[in-house]
Amino acid sequence: MIIDDRSYDVVVIGSGAGGGTLAGELAAAGRSVLLLERGEGLPLADQNVADIDLFRRRRYHPEEAWFGTDGDPFAPQTVHAWGGNTKIWGGVLQRMREREFGGLEHQEGRAPAWPFGYDELAPWYDRAEALYRVHGEAGLDPSEPPRASAYPHPPRPIEPFLVELREGFARQALHPYALPLSWSESQEDPTGDAEQFGVDRGDGAAGFERRGDTRVQALHTDPSGRRVVGVEAIAGGQRWLFRGHQVVLAAGAIHTPAILLRSASDRHPAGLANASDQVGRNLMKLQLTAILQRASQPNSGRYGRSLGFTDHYWGDRNVSFPLGCIQSGGGVLQDPLFAESPPLLSLVTRLLSDGALEWLADRSITWWAMSSVLPEPDNRVQLKGERISVAYLPNNREAHDRLVYRWLDTMQRVEDDPLTTVVQRTPIIPRGEAPQSVVGYACGTCRMGSDPARAVVDGEGRCHGLDNLWIADASVLPTAPAVGFGLTVIALALRQASRLNAELG
Ligand SMILES: Cc1cc2nc3c(=O)[nH]c(=O)nc-3n(C[C@H](O)[C@H](O)[C@H](O)COP(=O)(O)OP(=O)(O)OC[C@H]3O[C@@H](n4cnc5c(N)ncnc54)[C@H](O)[C@@H]3O)c2cc1C
Repeated sequence: MIIDDRSYDVVVIGSGAGGGTLAGELAAAGRSVLLLERGEGLPLADQNVADIDLFRRRRYHPEEAWFGTDGDPFAPQTVHAWGGNTKIWGGVLQRMREREFGGLEHQEGRAPAWPFGYDELAPWYDRAEALYRVHGEAGLDPSEPPRASAYPHPPRPIEPFLVELREGFARQALHPYALPLSWSESQEDPTGDAEQFGVDRGDGAAGFERRGDTRVQALHTDPSGRRVVGVEAIAGGQRWLFRGHQVVLAAGAIHTPAILLRSASDRHPAGLANASDQVGRNLMKLQLTAILQRASQPNSGRYGRSLGFTDHYWGDRNVSFPLGCIQSGGGVLQDPLFAESPPLLSLVTRLLSDGALEWLADRSITWWAMSSVLPEPDNRVQLKGERISVAYLPNNREAHDRLVYRWLDTMQRVEDDPLTTVVQRTPIIPRGEAPQSVVGYACGTCRMGSDPARAVVDGEGRCHGLDNLWIADASVLPTAPAVGFGLTVIALALRQASRLNAELG
């Protein structure tokens, strides 16, 4: 084993929304930071795919199979690269709703409260939106939480046919709004991500070092079991050991618990930071259903996510439990989530010729219905030998179905409106749920809470029972909002960076 002779203020493992942001923030504050990332740079050609190639190739699937709920292997859609999954995300950055912090009654049970309220995170959301150059317009989303000021940048322009569609939905008494988007000035890579707004910030700083192609295997503690003294990784075929005063795990909601479980020792027989037996449990994946609407005229099939609706976020006229939100998916040829082909569409996309697939894409508008799920201890990440197993059964299904049917009904009303000419009725509306391989919206597997018997990390992200180990990724979320939680991960990382700075003195 090669032992790196340097010791850093902080070693950060994983460079996605959480790790990339945190490492950049600490490096910019003058800390010595070592950032370890399993992947390397994702080539531009692979980042901004906007053609049928997205359907034809198994892009964004690392050469690694996980075991699924049925015990069979499957290939997850996930990115190992500088920036992690933010390299292919939609860049929609929304705040969690205020009520979601306080514990929320869903149809199938109560989501637990967070250890702090929205007010605590609000200033970090402000910072996160400024850092990630979020473009949006406040005051239109009926469920949005209070904010101190306007978005840092005005909303991005949307395609003309979506402008007409937006007016059509407004005539149905809905409240469409421009989805807040992270947008950089880069011509080549316009969607903001954690490489541009996190990792790259470190590059100019004297104490910053980053090592790609470095896969962390396990963490080692001192004899007391309270301090992490070594980070073991495989880099370039060699085994390495790295050291830091503070260690931050940010390998994402699947790999972070896997690393902790792999770090079992005499002191920590059930895995590191796992005295509560909660490491790997409470996995939540947003319920996602893609719905295709027929466009009257061809569109480019290549544009970003644009419109959001939260009219049914807290319920509808018949029920008073949360249902979720609707987002336009962006151009079919540009949406890696859609390319995972929900089951109903996968056969179609496989059988169609390239020309026919392009035709279908150009005449379609995708909508994503997104609903929350509840944390369940049996939904969990475990190790089977060296391999990862993900056992997952979604819950809160009826609320999601209700949202989908609400939306189908609304779409048809818009199609029947003579003033809206850009969409038309079809006898069948293709739709399908995101399959098992979609794990991009996973969270909860190292949940945050003040009780060490029931949570893995405290309210600041420090592991209970360990002095210098922190977690800064989506695994710490105790509940999942129905909107994407990328901005929440970023805000938590910025908040944690400030705590770490104070700790380092
Ligand atoms: C197609 C797609 C679209 C999405 N769109 C949106 C959106 O519009 N809005 C939104 O809010 N969210 C979106 N998401 C979800 C969002 O990307 C995630 O919530 C967010 O990236 C989670 O951040 P993270 O830091 O937890 O993990 P990640 O961003 O996944 O980062 C984890 C990092 O750790 C690295 N890593 C893993 N294991 C190791 C190891 N052993 N050693 C070293 N490094 C390791 C990985 O390579 C990766 O770089 C989308 C996701 C996908 C896949």
